[in-house]
Amino acid sequence: MTASTNLCESCHRSLSGQMWHRLDDMTICGPCYREASSIGLPVTCQHCGWHGVTNGTRETNEDMIEHDACADCIWWFRLAGESDLPDSIRIGGEHYTLTENPMARCGGRVRMLNGLDLGPVNLWSNGTIPERWRELLPDNAKWIT
Ligand SMILES: [Zn+2]
Ligand SMILES: [Zn+2]
Repeated sequence: MTASTNLCESCHRSLSGQMWHRLDDMTICGPCYREASSIGLPVTCQHCGWHGVTNGTRETNEDMIEHDACADCIWWFRLAGESDLPDSIRIGGEHYTLTENPMARCGGRVRMLNGLDLGPVNLWSNGTIPERWRELLPDNAKWIT
């Protein structure tokens, strides 16, 4: 270890005896990490009313603050923003993502509501779409039996 790695690269305080973190290829101390990653900031979710502090990844925390949303609603917010992509599959209020991974087979053949037959596909299940997100994430496919 070189001398520089024993100092926080953000505030230059000593890291000896402290928890340290990696962020953007920098080694930084706990307080700098919390500040840089927006951990612990209060958020009230405009979608579901959840009130708490940011506790996810930096990207999630920044989205939570920017969009006044909890981590759970950010997840659906992101999926809603990608609802036009061909890998976004909604059947019966459940959300799935098309994948090449054979481990993810949810079983069955899928036909898009626009008539496109996807055949047997591998899908990751993303869970049941909450009622308040259904309007933005309406069904777009069905199982073919
Ligand atoms: Zn620091
Ligand atoms: Zn929420």
